[in-house]
Amino acid sequence: DRRPLVAGNWKMNGLSAAAAELDALAKALADRPAPACDVMIAPPFTLLAPFVAAASGTPIAIGGQDCSHLEPGAHTGDIAAVMLRDIGATSVIVGHSERRQDHHETDDLVRLKAEAAHEAGLVAIVCIGETEPERDRDQTLNVVTTQLAGSVPDAATADNTIIAYEPVWAIGTGRTPTAADVATVHGTIREVLVERFGEDIGNGLRILYGGSVKPANAGELMAVANVDGALVGGASLKAADFDGIIDAY
Ligand code: 13P
Repeated sequence: DRRPLVAGNWKMNGLSAAAAELDALAKALADRPAPACDVMIAPPFTLLAPFVAAASGTPIAIGGQDCSHLEPGAHTGDIAAVMLRDIGATSVIVGHSERRQDHHETDDLVRLKAEAAHEAGLVAIVCIGETEPERDRDQTLNVVTTQLAGSVPDAATADNTIIAYEPVWAIGTGRTPTAADVATVHGTIREVLVERFGEDIGNGLRILYGGSVKPANAGELMAVANVDGALVGGASLKAADFDGIIDAY
């Protein structure tokens, strides 16, 4: 049985005052029966420490948005996985399409980052997803299959790895695939995972959907077969919206 995860990716948003949103979310969660899902927020690095403190004693876990594939050392501007772990993060997003685009991250690099996360005791949330031109050329299933093969470490288990399918054209656009399209892609991802890792691990790995998830569409998207939660960008910034998505569970 896969316990769903609703994860918020704050991207490059949030000044110190934003900790109030985390408090508001914690309060909203405390005011009603515990949701039947895990909840995680990945703030920018600068807010990790205050968010870990504010989330203590709440059901909210804190994650990073990226980590270096390298050990601590002379790498200006980078953050090692062990540093995230040390400050209280329990997971880290790797291979987000914005990092693949803005920082030319390849499947190989993403896999090394996921391995560094595992080494540090973090859950790696590995992102995959096709661009709009790839979708228009009917390459969606090829692209996600290739990305899975290259980005997910051989040592992946249901405990140390989560897959996030985020069609690039659906991120921040208000557009989403149909439930049928999501079912097709997540079903293919599931088949690929079972084929590579066997029934136990393949069926145990959680597959999140990301891309314009809002309270209004979360119920429909989260009900799709093999959708084990959401990776939420814009709608995770406001406690009321994020809580509305958690409410799908
Ligand atoms: P939006 O929810 O803003 O579309 O972003 C999705 C995303 O990229 C989460 O990682």
